[in-house]
Amino acid sequence: LLSCQGLSKAFGAQTLFSGVTLMINEGDKVGLIGPNGSGKSTLLKIFCGLEQADSGTVFTQKLIRTSYVAQEDAFDEAASCADNLTAAVRALDIDAAEQYNRVHALLSRAQFADPEQPVHLLSGGWRKRLAVCRALVTRPDVLIMDEPTNHLDIEGILWLEKLLGSALPESPSAVLLVSHDRRFLENTVNRVIELAPVYPEGSFQVRGTYADFLDKKAEYLLQRQS
Ligand code: ATP
Ligand code: MG
Repeated sequence: LLSCQGLSKAFGAQTLFSGVTLMINEGDKVGLIGPNGSGKSTLLKIFCGLEQADSGTVFTQKLIRTSYVAQEDAFDEAASCADNLTAAVRALDIDAAEQYNRVHALLSRAQFADPEQPVHLLSGGWRKRLAVCRALVTRPDVLIMDEPTNHLDIEGILWLEKLLGSALPESPSAVLLVSHDRRFLENTVNRVIELAPVYPEGSFQVRGTYADFLDKKAEYLLQRQS
């Protein structure tokens, strides 16, 4: 669906990563991890076309839809939750009734008590839920999320885990997400890629759960010492 080959990025003298290659197919749930400032958000932005790589290429399969949930999201603050979602589906080739149904079904499954509430009255966690809903309402093939569990309570995290783990109408075919939440990673992803200066290539990738990743990383670091 989406892949990159040999991506490198630096800001001035600071190299973030070099030679990152990643292929995202149907059913993939990729967790991108790494220390603060290692370039995770930058890599997601390159995937979304919001930032340019210094070298390397991003390939997107024809006709796929990608949605992006940024680390900090912007909304039309005075408009309602429902109106913010409707704005996202307006460009799609679906009629007004279908737009209405999609928006309200999604908000209801995400447990919004009042879809007509203006966004500026939402708490931090509910903003995050709304950001995820806005990304989902277009039914993307690939969902890209930057720290989606930030500000979320346990209920919110469980909602997100269920969404990523099952085939709901709004569930995407593939997911690429950044997270620092180990429990969430353990429950959702089937591949992990870490960006960190300790790796000569700048990154390390393992197919499997987060626990598998930790095992393989320990093995790799031991091997390097000997
Ligand atoms: P965090 O875990 O804190 O979210 P991150 O891994 O997402 O960190 P990025 O936001 O990708 O990190 O930033 C990586 C580095 O690149 C940081 O040092 C940041 O200051 C720098 N950086 C990001 N965007 C720019 C920019 N447009 N111009 C210059 N430097 C930038
Ligand atoms: Mg970030």
